Amino acid sequence: MTGNDVRDVIIIGGGPAGYTAAIYSARALLEPLVIEGVSWGGQLMNTSEVENFPGYSEGVLGPQIMSDLRAQAERFGTEFVTDDAVRVDLSQRPFVVETGEGTYRAQVLIVATGARARELGLPSEIALQGKGVSYCAVCDAAFFRDQEIVVVGGGDSAMEDALFLTRAAKKVTIVHRRDEFRAEPIMLERARSNEKIELVTSAVVDEVLGTDSEKVSGVRLRSTKTNETWEIEAGGVFVAIGHDPNTCLFLDSLDHDEAGYLKTKAHSTATNVHGVFAAGDMRRSQSLVVWAIREGRQAARAVDEFLMGASSLPR
Ligand code: NAP
Repeated sequence: MTGNDVRDVIIIGGGPAGYTAAIYSARALLEPLVIEGVSWGGQLMNTSEVENFPGYSEGVLGPQIMSDLRAQAERFGTEFVTDDAVRVDLSQRPFVVETGEGTYRAQVLIVATGARARELGLPSEIALQGKGVSYCAVCDAAFFRDQEIVVVGGGDSAMEDALFLTRAAKKVTIVHRRDEFRAEPIMLERARSNEKIELVTSAVVDEVLGTDSEKVSGVRLRSTKTNETWEIEAGGVFVAIGHDPNTCLFLDSLDHDEAGYLKTKAHSTATNVHGVFAAGDMRRSQSLVVWAIREGRQAARAVDEFLMGASSLPR
């Protein structure tokens, strides 16, 4: 494709919403281009067994779902650019999307850039990233065999990560800032009944401790009730405190909330810019794979209807 070609639709983002939008757009003969990012696949690439994805009675690995979705999109004629979008221009028509390698133009865009793991925001956490601080249990568990590990968070991700880490670790301590958990009862119960897991509530990580900033050696915790501090030893710290939307490219042009999540019209994937649609976790939605899939399909359908009514758009 040359820089002057104009696509009907470009989809930015290679997660469940983006690939689903591609499947449906391709089947509508729109020949979509997916700018899928260098690390395509989204958050499911960091997940192990997905037990609640419909159709898999024995569960399925997250990366397997993603490579299947991608292959399905490819089968119907989707093209992929395995690079990150670095700039978009929504002020001109056709819209322009730039990656490090090229410039692409389209009449319609679907934004499906998803969300990323949130950081605690501690200088010691940043300094020790990759030296014991991790945001991906599935990726890094093997590095912590027979060690003690801290998992931070009180949602399903924290429970899932802690349970996964018990396969290799000697002990896992879940640290949660409140005494009530956000996790589903079934996930919490699994963690509670695992003898390798200890739950510490009403506490936050004040500092990640390291040996000469070379390797994590533990954490200093602080009680949210008494302000008392104490230290526990750990070879690894896994942060599982939720996600932030990948929307920095769009903050100047698309309506968003204070946290950067894109806003769409009621019951719609349409954004405030005519011809730009948004699907997936960078909207404030359910953060469920099936929900992202639903929105990807909804966006593809909206694009099809938009293009059918927009034959006079410049090509
Ligand atoms: P989440 O549900 O938003 O939970 C984030 C947790 O981190 C909360 O307990 C929150 O505490 C805590 N937290 C947030 N910021 C913090 C900070 N700065 N310091 C300390 N703690 C902080 O996020 P999630 O666990 O990633 O789950 C996201 C979605 O994915 C949910 O809908 C979840 O059900 C789903 N999910 C499902 C599965 C599964 O079914 N197998 C697995 C993973 C995720 P507070 O509670 O005090 O706010």
